[in-house]
Amino acid sequence: MKDLHSFGWYAGKIKPDLPNEAFDPVPARLWGGLAYLLVTIAGLLTIGLLSINPIFYLGISIILGCSFAALGFLGHEILHGTVVRKPWLRDFLGAIAFWPLTTGPRLWRKWHNLTHHVHTQHEEHDPDAWPTFEKLAKSRFLRWIYRLPLGIRAFFSFCSLSIQFSAHSMKMFTVYLKEFNPKKRPAVLIEAILPWMTWIGLLVWVGPFKWFFMFLLPLLIANLIVMGYISTNHRLNPTTEVNDPLANSLTVTVPKWVDFLHFNFSYHTEHHLFPGVSSKYYPLVKEQIKKRWPERYHEMPMGSALVALWKTPRLYYQQSELIDPSKGTLFGSLGNGLDPKNIQSKGLDTLDTLKAFQERKAK
Ligand SMILES: [Zn+2]
Ligand SMILES: [Zn+2]
Repeated sequence: MKDLHSFGWYAGKIKPDLPNEAFDPVPARLWGGLAYLLVTIAGLLTIGLLSINPIFYLGISIILGCSFAALGFLGHEILHGTVVRKPWLRDFLGAIAFWPLTTGPRLWRKWHNLTHHVHTQHEEHDPDAWPTFEKLAKSRFLRWIYRLPLGIRAFFSFCSLSIQFSAHSMKMFTVYLKEFNPKKRPAVLIEAILPWMTWIGLLVWVGPFKWFFMFLLPLLIANLIVMGYISTNHRLNPTTEVNDPLANSLTVTVPKWVDFLHFNFSYHTEHHLFPGVSSKYYPLVKEQIKKRWPERYHEMPMGSALVALWKTPRLYYQQSELIDPSKGTLFGSLGNGLDPKNIQSKGLDTLDTLKAFQERKAK
C-alpha cells in the first residue's frame, strides 16, 4: 500500500468546495431526537402500564429497538459537536441519546473521537480494529475460535452482533477508565452507572417479563442495527499505517428513507474525512470525493457488505489481507483484490501458515 494520505489531506482539498454553513452546528437534528425520545417514552409507558396481549409488546419492542439505535446514531453526531457547540449541553444531550445503549459521553468521546478517529484501522492503536494473525498466536481464546470452520464462525459472529456494541462498550469502560485524570474518573463512573441503574430499577418495578420487552429485547435489536453498520465500516478494509479514510473505510448505501431514519450514518468514509461536519452535508462530501478520487473510494450496498463480511475471515495478515488459519487461505481486502461480487480465496500453503503460526507462538 503506497501513496496513502491522512484524512486532513483529503479534507483540505475538499473544504473549499463545501458551503460555509456545512461547518456550522445543526441543532435542528434535535427534532429527530425528540421524536425518537417521545416514541421511546410512549412505548415504555404502554408496556409498563397496560396489560395487553404480549404480541403487542413484541411489536412495541421492535419499535423501541429501532428508536434506541437511532438515538445512538444521533448521540454519535451530538458528541462530535455537530449539533450543539456548548460542551456541557453536548455532553448532556449525548448522555440522553446514549442512555439506552448505556454508554457515557466522556467515555464515548475518548474511545471514539479521540482514539478510533485518530488511529482508524491502526493495528495497535484503534480500539475497534480486528486482530492480526500475530495476535492469534498470543491468545488462546482466538486460537480456539479460529479453529472452527469459517461458516460456523460467521454464524456465531453474526449472532454476536446483537450484543457486540454493549459488550465492546463495557470493555472500553474498563480499558479507558484508568486513563482519565483521577479528578474526572468519578464523573465517568457515574455516567456509566446511571443508565444501568435506571434500567435495573425498571426491572425491579415491572418484573422480568415486561422488562424483557421494554429493555432487553430492544437493546438486542438496537445492537443488531448499529452493529449492522459498524461491522461494515472498516472490517472489509485493510489496516493502515497512515489513517487514510479512502483506504481504510467503507461507505454503505441504504434506501433514502433508512438514511433519513438513521441520520445518514451510512456515509462512513465521509464521516472520517469530516467528523466535525453534520452528516446532513455528507452527500455533498461524497460528490466531491467521487469527483476527485473515484478509484480510491469504496462504496457498496449494505447487503453486499454484510454478505462479504460473512464470507471472509476477520483476521488481518500483513495489513492488506484476511487470513483463515483453519484452512490456510487468504482473502484480499477492499482495494487489495477483494471483489464483493466474486469473493475468491487463494490458498496459502497450510504448512507455511502453521509454521509461521508456531514460530510466532514460540516468540
Ligand atoms: Zn469509523
Ligand atoms: Zn464518529
